[in-house]
Amino acid sequence: RIGDPGRPTWVHLDLTAIADNVRALRHHTGVPLMVVLKGDGYGHGAARVARAALAAGAEMVAVATVGEGRSLRAQGISAPILVLGYTPPWQVAEAIRLDLMVTLFDDDTAQALSAAALELGRPARVHIKVDTGMARLGVSPAAVGPFLYYLRDLPGIEPVGLYTHFARADEADPEPTKHQLQLLQTVLAEITAAGLRPPLVHAANSAATLRFPMTYFDMVRPGLACYGIAPSPVVPLLPGMHPALSFYSEVAQVREHPAGTPISYGGAYVTSRPSRIATIPVGYADGLRRSPAWREVLIRGRRAPIVGRICMDYAMVDVTDIPGVQRGDPVTIIGRQGEEVIGVDEIAGWLGTISYEVLTGILPRVPREIG
Ligand code: PLP
Repeated sequence: RIGDPGRPTWVHLDLTAIADNVRALRHHTGVPLMVVLKGDGYGHGAARVARAALAAGAEMVAVATVGEGRSLRAQGISAPILVLGYTPPWQVAEAIRLDLMVTLFDDDTAQALSAAALELGRPARVHIKVDTGMARLGVSPAAVGPFLYYLRDLPGIEPVGLYTHFARADEADPEPTKHQLQLLQTVLAEITAAGLRPPLVHAANSAATLRFPMTYFDMVRPGLACYGIAPSPVVPLLPGMHPALSFYSEVAQVREHPAGTPISYGGAYVTSRPSRIATIPVGYADGLRRSPAWREVLIRGRRAPIVGRICMDYAMVDVTDIPGVQRGDPVTIIGRQGEEVIGVDEIAGWLGTISYEVLTGILPRVPREIG
């Protein structure tokens, strides 16, 4: 257990699932794989996912910030690391010192990198980001050529990569992704002709990795699929891929209440019949979201509805229809129990969000157990 060892509420991480998923993706694509470890490895723990993924054949990892890269280096990860996010000019020297590759899309940062590289006597290795339709970070397709010419004349900068990010590769309609791809291909034709194409071109997130081989180029860059979650209902995982994360607790107390009993803060739920209510020691300070609320958990292999408002440390569950529930019974919040499964995508539906936010929304108070 990492974190509170005595807590009856924990996340279980199956690192063999990470390895299986990485192997399946690596085999399916046949190109090198960069595993995305933003948000502490989508809530799984970035360093442990990195170790499992690299051992299973991934070549490289990506993080959102220099701080996330620093944490990986401090935990002994020596593989190539790309910072996907915004690195402010005041942080570029640290990135070079930590041997992190940074994403570059503006002149100011390029100049700061060049100065820092000269001062440190080490090259700044960068990946140029092209905005082909996400409108988040990146240079416009038309500006890529001039930007690469500009970088060529800046000492200390080594453009080792160039990439874009798809906004809609998980949707049924492939056209928006094809359009982004077309923009990238036009840029590549131009910079290849000018002898400026960086050696590592990459674009494919999980959805594109699973369904669009024409987006692979020199490397793929999946996150979610490595954790064993499908990007959307129209993009299934490959055979043998499975989720790495489960979330468990146990029943803290069971009580009988007559009809008409208000349950939890505000009496927002009132029993409509004589009810058996189990209290479980997990609440919104663990990430069990209060509003829109988490809806169900598994107890004795059956679905049990959460009733009343979710508290900071507790939630109440109606177990009237599940015979024999008692203190200490295992509770599954995410994952399997017997024949029943509550998946991250189902929970995302309850909460009006996406699987990514469910995973990264499991808060640090929840201890992580590795298996
Ligand atoms: N590349 C970039 C730039 C990202 O921001 C992300 C995550 O959102 C990914 C790749 C991985 O995306 P996914 O988890 O959908 O595979």
